Amino acid sequence: MVRYVYDFTEGGRDQAGLLGGKGANLAEMTRLGLPVPPGFTVSTEACRAFLATGAEPDGLAREIAEHLTVLERAAGRLLGQPDDPLLLSVRSGARFSMPGMMETILDVGLGDDSVLGLAKVSGNERFAWDSYRRLVQMFGATVMGVDDSLFEKALSDLKRARGASDDLALGAADLADLVRTYKELIRRETGEDFPQSPGEQLRRAVLAVFESWRGERARVYRRREHIADDLGTAVNVQTMVFGNLGPDSGSGVAFTRDPATGRPGLYGDYLADAQGEDVVAGIRNTVPLTALEELDPDSYEQLCGHMRTLETHYRDLCDIEFTIERGRLWMLQTRVGKRTAEAAFAIAAELADEGLITADEGLARVDGDGLARLMFPRFDTSSVGEPLAHGLPASPGAAVGAAVFDSVEAVRRAATGERVVLVRQETTPDDLPGMIAAQAVLTSRGGKTSHAAVVARGMGTVCVCGAEEVTVDPAARRFTVGDTVVEEGTVVSVDGSEGAVYLGAAPLVDSAVMRWFETGERSDRLVEAVAWAMERADGARRLEVRANADTPEDAARARRFGAQGVGLCRTEHMFLGERRKLVEAMILAGDESERERALGALLPLQRQDFTGILEAMDGLPVTIRLIDPPLHEFLPDRTALAVRIATAEARGGVPDPHDTELLEAVTRMHEENPMLGLRGVRLGLVVPGLVAMQVRAIAEAVVERTKAGGSPEAEIMVPLVGAVEELRIEREEVERVLAEVSRESGVPVHCPVGTMIELPRAALTAGRIAEEAEFFSFGTNDLTQTTWGFSRDDVEAAFFSAYLDKGIFATSPFETLDRDGVGRLVRIAVDEGRAARPDLKIGVCGEHGGDPASVHFFHSAGLDYVSCSPFRVPVARLEAGRATL
Ligand code: PEP
Ligand code: MG
Repeated sequence: MVRYVYDFTEGGRDQAGLLGGKGANLAEMTRLGLPVPPGFTVSTEACRAFLATGAEPDGLAREIAEHLTVLERAAGRLLGQPDDPLLLSVRSGARFSMPGMMETILDVGLGDDSVLGLAKVSGNERFAWDSYRRLVQMFGATVMGVDDSLFEKALSDLKRARGASDDLALGAADLADLVRTYKELIRRETGEDFPQSPGEQLRRAVLAVFESWRGERARVYRRREHIADDLGTAVNVQTMVFGNLGPDSGSGVAFTRDPATGRPGLYGDYLADAQGEDVVAGIRNTVPLTALEELDPDSYEQLCGHMRTLETHYRDLCDIEFTIERGRLWMLQTRVGKRTAEAAFAIAAELADEGLITADEGLARVDGDGLARLMFPRFDTSSVGEPLAHGLPASPGAAVGAAVFDSVEAVRRAATGERVVLVRQETTPDDLPGMIAAQAVLTSRGGKTSHAAVVARGMGTVCVCGAEEVTVDPAARRFTVGDTVVEEGTVVSVDGSEGAVYLGAAPLVDSAVMRWFETGERSDRLVEAVAWAMERADGARRLEVRANADTPEDAARARRFGAQGVGLCRTEHMFLGERRKLVEAMILAGDESERERALGALLPLQRQDFTGILEAMDGLPVTIRLIDPPLHEFLPDRTALAVRIATAEARGGVPDPHDTELLEAVTRMHEENPMLGLRGVRLGLVVPGLVAMQVRAIAEAVVERTKAGGSPEAEIMVPLVGAVEELRIEREEVERVLAEVSRESGVPVHCPVGTMIELPRAALTAGRIAEEAEFFSFGTNDLTQTTWGFSRDDVEAAFFSAYLDKGIFATSPFETLDRDGVGRLVRIAVDEGRAARPDLKIGVCGEHGGDPASVHFFHSAGLDYVSCSPFRVPVARLEAGRATL
């Protein structure tokens, strides 16, 4: 038979799934012999049954009645007993903490008779009426659905009428009046009376807490915190203890360590003559916990002892809520406390050092998201106001600068030493110089894998993208958010970790952790703690971590951050800026010799790029990918060209013949769907000479580095392969050029040739493809795009927020790998690829390579390495270590 109700003496901390976090911990404290007011927990299973049917589950009422009898016997009085009422609190408590998101009802059991009894036994009439008015208000709002602001208004009207500055100034008669007003209000709003039956109060309170799981607030919170919608909440029914019985009573919250820094010592707040919710609500000013030592030394002493017991027992920072009722201490709640990233690292390292937890446990308690937060400068959150706009946190960190609206202006101002923020609707490869010059990039369109996001992350530039409230007007050189107009040159602050934009210059705090990664300088306790975690992770991990890097500088930085090679060098990034003219000439070449000339001009430049990267990564593998994007991306925009030509003609002049030629080429090459068009290996197969030039540049760079005494380890990677035949033909060309350069130089050049797996067909025919590939690297950006049929440049801004709201997925599949779909293709490709070629090396170089949850998946799928942007390398190292736990 199903059972729904458990006494606090029955459960334990490992039953959070059934009893909720709060219930499980109340049971644990009860078992430890700490002073917990007696009570019982109605399980999450009961809540799920209620949510599924909308009706009270069979047998629940009987079980609650039985457990209530146990409580009543122990207390020696009955729920709501007129002369001396037992009163109960009814609190939500889900498996994962959702602070303040669901309902609580206190003082359940009070009625018109028992309020008089309570007044008598407590000897405190005011307290009794105050408890009653709290119950009527909470019950009225939560259970009976009356708008809470009506109660609040009645309370403030009364205070005004009595000239009272706070609640304490209202006397017993005032509060009795208020109860009357509240009850009338309930009757008027609902047509029903406030129920006097204690049993009915309890029953309806429990169901109302269940119902609050579905409330708007709770739903929004779960979505943000990625908590599943179907868990349900438990309900804790507990004997009330009172902190509002006079100066020898009170309530407080406490931490066994400082949750901001992790430093040992008791931290917390206390409020005399108050109930717990008054402490949290900040109605009156609390005093620091240390003041309790003077107010009530005995209780303070006991509290310190209980906190030590809890920290030793849980072997972690605990937070608690407690109440002192007339000099007697009661523990109302404990849990392993939330903490900042800094405190998480400090506590893990220190407790492991003290031997209280194992190194593995310490590693489990820190994470990559926390590390990322510690690596970047932050805004001092205590001194920034409300954000001007919100967007997607695309590349972490915080930066301040003058808003500029195009790349040229960004470069111009940066050259004079000014800090700038590049604001665009979205960025294109044309904006690259401006992005390099800017401290931050802000776009109003585009998702986390948009051009702006990917490039900014790669460079470590702060980026907020898809800030839909921002309307960018580049012609007028300003952007607007609602009524606020931000002109060019106005200073704005961009928080790429939180996805927020502020007007003005927010104060910055520098990162000592970043300095340590860059220079090895161990400056403080936090850095020591991070170093401890990194050493453990590196010692534990099986996955190697490489970096996506296109320049020698990025490669060198990635190496300082611990990268074990380059997993993706996007060669097309080397075709931008000054070199575009050369690429243009190649595309426009009228005949073979013109094309050869253009390619010949690009060759030494590419060779130089590769030499620099191979030098920075000497002795480590560098995977160089042959050109991937459609060539028209390197030509000017079609509309802009057409406008230029039309304007020249309208003025009666002759358009620049180069423009006409360009427009003709752009029109010829135009594709409706370029992401699915002439790109990747397809380009290499149909544009003569392109692959040969790139391979020659790689091979000659290898020769140059070898002759200079280095150990270059270039690997050549072919993008967007869908069929083994494509790879076979391309590979023959690659091998031909490698052999040619070997012959010419007398230096044998061996570069493994592999492919990206970024199309479903490639994954599904991986066994065949492995016959021609020495390695695979999953391009999970394109693999996600093509598996879901989601345009990676558009969908995040277009409709992902609706999808997230509807719970279709909890995070964007471009951010965290979709295990069920894309992940299945990855597993198929790994299995079939290795079956065909057992020594096949397999990695991933899509954005997911630096995403913590995805790294865990890649570990479990048996990949050899992940590759991510240089700044994510430490995060990936840490998570790769944690994945083995
Ligand atoms: C990918 O598709 O995952 C990938 C790494 O290639 P790109 O992002 O350059 O298309
Ligand atoms: Mg790709």
